[in-house]
Amino acid sequence: MRAAIFTEQNGPLSVENVDPIDPGPRDVVVRITASGVCHSDLHVITGGLPMPPPAILGHEGTGIVEAVGPEVKGLRVGDRVIGSFIPACGTCWFCLRDESHLCENTYTVMAAPRAHRHDHTPLMTMTGLGTFADMMTCDEMSLVKIETDLPDEQLALIGCGFTTGVGAALNTAKVQPGDTVAVIGCGGVGQSVIQGAKVAGAAQIIAIDLVPYKRESALALGATHVVDPAEADAVEQVMALTGGRGVDYAFEVIGVPDLIVQAFNMARTGGAAVAVGVPHFMDSITIPSFPLVLSEKRLLGCVYGSAQVRRDFPRLVSLVQAGRLDLGGMVSRTMGLDDINEAFRAMKDGEVIRSVLV
Ligand SMILES: [Zn+2]
Ligand SMILES: [Zn+2]
Repeated sequence: MRAAIFTEQNGPLSVENVDPIDPGPRDVVVRITASGVCHSDLHVITGGLPMPPPAILGHEGTGIVEAVGPEVKGLRVGDRVIGSFIPACGTCWFCLRDESHLCENTYTVMAAPRAHRHDHTPLMTMTGLGTFADMMTCDEMSLVKIETDLPDEQLALIGCGFTTGVGAALNTAKVQPGDTVAVIGCGGVGQSVIQGAKVAGAAQIIAIDLVPYKRESALALGATHVVDPAEADAVEQVMALTGGRGVDYAFEVIGVPDLIVQAFNMARTGGAAVAVGVPHFMDSITIPSFPLVLSEKRLLGCVYGSAQVRRDFPRLVSLVQAGRLDLGGMVSRTMGLDDINEAFRAMKDGEVIRSVLV
């Protein structure tokens, strides 16, 4: 199989021929048909998300089942699947509380090597998947069967960015009709938060981004107002758009400590900031404690849009098919596995909402 390998911090990925592991009884072999290039992959390369090289990156993908181990219960050869970047066992304390995005068996699955180089060096994979490849061998826990005729390059995005963003609005914040929302950072996940807020019926959706192209995309995908933080203080601009009150929910979708604090300061009295962007693992934040208590403001963490993937992946697919959510508008360009480093360059330069490898 061919795969893009993370070999050194801040270096380019190396596309190589590698050998998959022999599948175990609960493993599933998937032929990958599309993989989105997510900011979290870049985060591994730059060291913000700790993962030792060598490893196969990519955690937002879709494909077709090619083989299943003898103990695999829910999947058959030929099934269309989306990778869940948080493997969900379905039976642990969290999964039984409908909190499968916090599954306690996740890390056991993520930590197993799933391929090796020809010299037998084991290769970890990002989150137990490794979608920057033409094949992957993963645990059944990491896959969700899906029945749809949506194109591969759209379906891939449900594996991470789309579910994270739409879920942040629907599941984590539980945006209600008429609510006001601000979104700091309008990449793939931020645009998905905007779409989630729109489908939830938010009356005002304020998109905040430095890049004009991303602000324009936000308007096309459901934002009602845009804010350029280079023009004036973003908190003051949001206050001016909300009659000085602030928004019900302010989402931070970049992972920068100062911007999480900014989101907190944009939230109205009794409102909430939702931290969606993945910060550097050594970062911490300081928020003003007075409004936390006396203005009853809340700060909510959000991983994977608080999604239960086996419920939410089909739900998102049906909303896209009904024309209520727009996945096609999120795919900026498609490219081959060999173009992976170009995809990261385009991401760093703010040129794309999402590049998808096909
Ligand atoms: Zn991701
Ligand atoms: Zn579990």
